[in-house]
Amino acid sequence: MHTRLLSGNEAVALGAWEAGVAVGCGYPGTPSTEILEALAGKPGVYTEWSVNEKVALEVGVGAALAGGRTLVTMKHVGVNVAADPLFTASYTGVRAGLVIVTADDPELHSSQNEQDNRNYAIAAKVPMLEPSDSQEAREFTRLAFELSETFDTPVFLRMTTRLSHSKSLIEPFAGDAPQRTEAPLAPGFEPDPRKYVMIPGHARARRVAVEDRMQRLIEAAEDHPANRIEWPDGLPADAIAEFGVITSGIPYSYVKEVAPQAPVLKLGLVHPLPRRLLAEFAARVRWLYVVEELDPVIETQLKAWGIDCVGREAFSGIGEFSPTIVARGLGRPLPAPTLSPQLEVTVRRPGLCPGCPHDHVFTELRRLGFIVSGDIGCYSLGVLPPYNAMDTLLDMGASLTMAQGMDLVVPPEQKGRIAAVIGDSTFAHSGITGLLNAVWNGRDGLYVVLDNGTTAMTGMQPNPLSGERMGRSDAPSLDYALLAKAMHIPDDRLAMVDAYDTATISAALEHLAGQSGVRLLVVLGLCLIEGQKLKRIEKLDLKKTVRRELVRTHPLGGQHE
Ligand code: SF4
Repeated sequence: MHTRLLSGNEAVALGAWEAGVAVGCGYPGTPSTEILEALAGKPGVYTEWSVNEKVALEVGVGAALAGGRTLVTMKHVGVNVAADPLFTASYTGVRAGLVIVTADDPELHSSQNEQDNRNYAIAAKVPMLEPSDSQEAREFTRLAFELSETFDTPVFLRMTTRLSHSKSLIEPFAGDAPQRTEAPLAPGFEPDPRKYVMIPGHARARRVAVEDRMQRLIEAAEDHPANRIEWPDGLPADAIAEFGVITSGIPYSYVKEVAPQAPVLKLGLVHPLPRRLLAEFAARVRWLYVVEELDPVIETQLKAWGIDCVGREAFSGIGEFSPTIVARGLGRPLPAPTLSPQLEVTVRRPGLCPGCPHDHVFTELRRLGFIVSGDIGCYSLGVLPPYNAMDTLLDMGASLTMAQGMDLVVPPEQKGRIAAVIGDSTFAHSGITGLLNAVWNGRDGLYVVLDNGTTAMTGMQPNPLSGERMGRSDAPSLDYALLAKAMHIPDDRLAMVDAYDTATISAALEHLAGQSGVRLLVVLGLCLIEGQKLKRIEKLDLKKTVRRELVRTHPLGGQHE
């Protein structure tokens, strides 16, 4: 029997596979991306990168209703995209287990906000499990599928960046390899319109069922194996401890590090909360601390129940915790400083890779005095020096739509000087709807798609424009020309140019800026890192040829042969 070190993300994939998951889908987003990558290719499971998180969840609900255990993965802001099906899936229930991973990002390591998705579990009335290490990530994934089927509900599994990416030991397999247990339900859809067709008359009845389910979940939380109290050795059963801690997730590890003898109530099921268990624990400690990252979710609930505790007074609600922060908050001795590295590491600013094919676009946009409405991904880095060429960035796909909003009210001298810039993956995710909105509403706008042939920022995942799907099998890629044609964008307002053809890019920007109506500029240049990978699998020449052909057929001004 071997012990193994796995990252939290790898452990979720392992736990899902061991639990007999049939379908895994999601949208890449740090820190969640590696879960599906670790699951892909395992026998007995279909995996896909979906177009966006909403689509992934809808595929997931469909698969679960048809009897297949399903894992859907996304980063925390992805849940915003998936929120629409989420709230109604809570009503329909799932039949086979449906586990939704939300990978939250305290400290905003690679995100545009720091939201705490425990709030989604509360709002959508969906239970949530939160592991503290890789073994729990594996185990809780299995528990989440069981909880989902027992209570006929989607279940959230909350990861955080630190947990997703750090490695810890998992319990050895019984044999040489992990064992898969086939899921209990036989595949097959059983029609039940009153449960699965959420017209208002049906949904009203399901609303009651959801409340009934929450009550049963609250009861189940009291004894759920993911929640446990750890009393210090030798503490008499009737003794009152000087202080105790309620915590969950990664902060649990910090509490154990800085206060190993403290009584701890460790919550693994973080929604709904086990009221009796919490009250019982609180009654046995003089000072009750709540150590939770981001929002005071547990603290607020405790105080609403009249249970006094110390939370935000001692621990900030901003950013990621560390053993030092937890020690300071608990009034414990600070942990010994870790060994300082022997090497001086040069601080590297984030930025586009040197030689990135699309850097010239940013230089030109700034030189030509455009207001730049930007988007998520590598090209968000256009805001930084030396380009300083981005003025807004809100969320995925918002570059096109925000540009439309700004154009409505800017003074005449700024009219026609707003350009929206978006990557290919993001364009497929939710940029296309913005383009459709502009066409439909007869708007003006210059929209620039920087197509690098992959989803570079999250680690080179394919997308609907890259001609491949998960596992690098070939896929049809969306045809910009046909898309533009379908949207009634005239030929002379669509240009496809080579990212290394700097003179043509400048000319195209000037030419298109001088026109009215919706204008689409596609700048094609393979990501350098993806290019290296394509070279290794001997696909580089093919990809380059396809791109050259696009440029040839739709050069500036639509003067194609
Ligand atoms: S990862 Fe690729 S697309 Fe992103 S900045 Fe680097 S070269 Fe450009």
